[in-house]
Amino acid sequence: MITAYIALGSNLDNPGLQLQRAVDDLDSVSGIEVTGVSKLYISKPVGPQDQPDYCNAAVEIQTNLEPLALLDATQTIENHHGRVRTIRWGARTLDLDMILYGDQVINSERLTVPHYQMHVRNFVVLPLFDINPELTLPSGRLLTQLKDELGNDGIDVMAEQYPWL
Ligand code: ATP
Ligand code: MG
Ligand code: MG
Repeated sequence: MITAYIALGSNLDNPGLQLQRAVDDLDSVSGIEVTGVSKLYISKPVGPQDQPDYCNAAVEIQTNLEPLALLDATQTIENHHGRVRTIRWGARTLDLDMILYGDQVINSERLTVPHYQMHVRNFVVLPLFDINPELTLPSGRLLTQLKDELGNDGIDVMAEQYPWL
């Protein structure tokens, strides 16, 4: 079993509910068990600003799926939530990004882990910190350091405890 972390984001069609259902969807996949859930956050969009605010959260999972099989599973769930890929960083019903997969470093065509933007996104780092404040990245950097650097600009807590709604 590998411990992995998935970041969840949504800003369309009842975003909080999209995320809450996505946690259950992940847990329902054979080979994935959700073992930690963050607070629910609301944050300002990155990229195009003419779109609604985002709901964000993260989960910790235990999985026996290989990285690409885990990506297939998360993309299937995105599609079931009606994800349509149009403009980059545009509005979406559900985004599931693989942030960490054990302490593996992966650079393949379909998959970059740790997620390439995690160190500049407080809406990823704060939820991870809720679940595991002791987390260390494969590079040896401490999550708590990243959290202190990024601060709380543009992000607020919407709900403390899962189930959030
Ligand atoms: P960003 O990656 O900047 O958060 P995004 O999440 O909107 O943007 P997507 O459209 O969800 O981007 O994904 C684009 C592609 O990114 C996917 O087809 C997938 O193959 C690739 N990808 C690379 N690394 C990862 C990762 N760690 N988690 C999820 N997808 C990844
Ligand atoms: Mg993303
Ligand atoms: Mg994505």
